[in-house]
Amino acid sequence: MLEKIPFYNLNLNELKSVLNGLGKESFRAQQLFRWIYGLGVTDFNHMSNLAKDFRAELPAKFDLSLPEIITHQKSADGTQKLLFRLFDQKSVEAVLIPSEGRLTLCLSSEVGCNMACKFCFTAKQKLQRKLEAHEIVGQYLASARLLPSGEKITNIVFMGMGEPLDNPEQVFKAIEIFNSDWGLNLSKKKITVSTSGLVPLIPLVTKSGTRLAVSLNAVDDEMRSQIMPINKKWPLQQLLDACRQHAKDSGDKVTLEYVLLEGITDSIDSARKLYQITKNVPCKINIIPFNEHPNSGFKRPSEAQIVAFHNELMRLGAHVLRRKTMGRDISAACGQLTTAAMRA
Ligand code: SAH
Repeated sequence: MLEKIPFYNLNLNELKSVLNGLGKESFRAQQLFRWIYGLGVTDFNHMSNLAKDFRAELPAKFDLSLPEIITHQKSADGTQKLLFRLFDQKSVEAVLIPSEGRLTLCLSSEVGCNMACKFCFTAKQKLQRKLEAHEIVGQYLASARLLPSGEKITNIVFMGMGEPLDNPEQVFKAIEIFNSDWGLNLSKKKITVSTSGLVPLIPLVTKSGTRLAVSLNAVDDEMRSQIMPINKKWPLQQLLDACRQHAKDSGDKVTLEYVLLEGITDSIDSARKLYQITKNVPCKINIIPFNEHPNSGFKRPSEAQIVAFHNELMRLGAHVLRRKTMGRDISAACGQLTTAAMRA
């Protein structure tokens, strides 16, 4: 028997051509998408505007299975972390983060990661493989199913495991499915792609119409190259130029993420330098106090130092927000995601 096609991998044209290959009309593609993404119906038997014999053909053709949830942890602050098992037994995590009327889903784009950022737990795992679009969309669908009726995911951020721009084809395919009116119909402006700085691929984010976040994390090339090896390939100036270009072309501010590592990136002098190098980039700065993980070799600064760093940027007039640490009790915070086995 032929292998089934993962349904959540398909865009409109692809579904049309699969259906045409079965001798069906193209408009059947919209009907199928409407049932599945619009109405959440996944039992082909219930698709009442399709002929019975056509319905009967579909289960053998399409695979509608989702990544399996193997653990589901809830933090005291409302954050929920999901560990998914993929078809090849590998696993990835996603995090649901409630805040002020929003519910943000933080998605993974790869199993492990090759960017080798020194402070990140996922990096310890190295890249095992890139996710396919259906596994990215699948994280969303499986997470959405857990919500009580009436609750909805309002925002998506590609800030889980992996470097989304290291897997652009599948990530932007998933984004097309999230955003299209035949798909999940989510606003592009509610989707953020976060990158460690793959400069030549940043225009793909601009083209997709989603928001851009960049993990800046240091204020000079020497330090940035030490903690983020990708900087040796695409140094700060090129990265900041790409951010400026994105802001210009999209009309959106770029989110610059900045991890505070004690004694390394958290000095008041660094805060001033951060302001200097970003003041010509339309941006908001998101400071993220380091979340500790075993044997990282880094420390979270004291509360006083975090506040002083934040205040200095505010005093200078930067648009700066401190990212609230969420889900730390279940290791769901930034830079703490990995495959369960790694934690043992
Ligand atoms: N690879 C992408 C997506 C991961 S996003 C990127 O680098 O942007 C994860 C964010 O968490 C990044 O901004 C990263 O700098 C930050 N981060 C990684 N490890 C962290 C840790 N231990 N504590 C706090 N933030 C961390």
